[in-house]
Amino acid sequence: MILFMGVPGAGKSVQGRMLSDYLGYPWISTGEILRQHISGEKRQRMLQGELLTDEELYEVVEPVLKEHVDGSTLNVILDGFPRTQAQAEWLQQFVESHGITMRCIIRLHADAKEITRRLLDRGRPDDTEEVIANRFVEYERATKPILDFFEKRGVPTPKIDGNGTESEVHGRIKQAIDAL
Ligand code: AMP
Repeated sequence: MILFMGVPGAGKSVQGRMLSDYLGYPWISTGEILRQHISGEKRQRMLQGELLTDEELYEVVEPVLKEHVDGSTLNVILDGFPRTQAQAEWLQQFVESHGITMRCIIRLHADAKEITRRLLDRGRPDDTEEVIANRFVEYERATKPILDFFEKRGVPTPKIDGNGTESEVHGRIKQAIDAL
């Protein structure tokens, strides 16, 4: 299992998909799964940008992960999960109980200027520089304890420079994975 972490706009989805094609693993994005499968009040909450509850996530994530467990191997790329400390503990419990080794957490970084440019290209009016700066702060706040949690358990967390073209970044990720 390989996890992706990075601030919105760092290129997680693009790079997660490229790596999944390269390795031949499925790309599991909790945001994508939720957009495809949830309805009603939960969908409204999601559309308003709120996080769903941990329990709601486990219901969605557990069957998808189980589907790909093969003995003590789980060859997937996971994007968008875990996003809370409780989710990190749940995932740790899941891998431990199946004897699965977490291969690494790819920390995708890009500088604010590059991210601002990408997000502005995306054309959404709410992607202002101020909002983007806030996302950086929020990302650090939420992600730091999760990274610490897995680092303490010996999971490598290579930091990847996400600036540059998609294929340049993909090359760096492949290199980091091969070096593990
Ligand atoms: P994303 O595509 O990763 O930005 O996720 C889109 C939305 O799905 C988020 O704003 C949340 O509402 C929901 N979501 C995705 N992953 C999680 C998660 N791990 N925990 C809680 N909510 C999530």
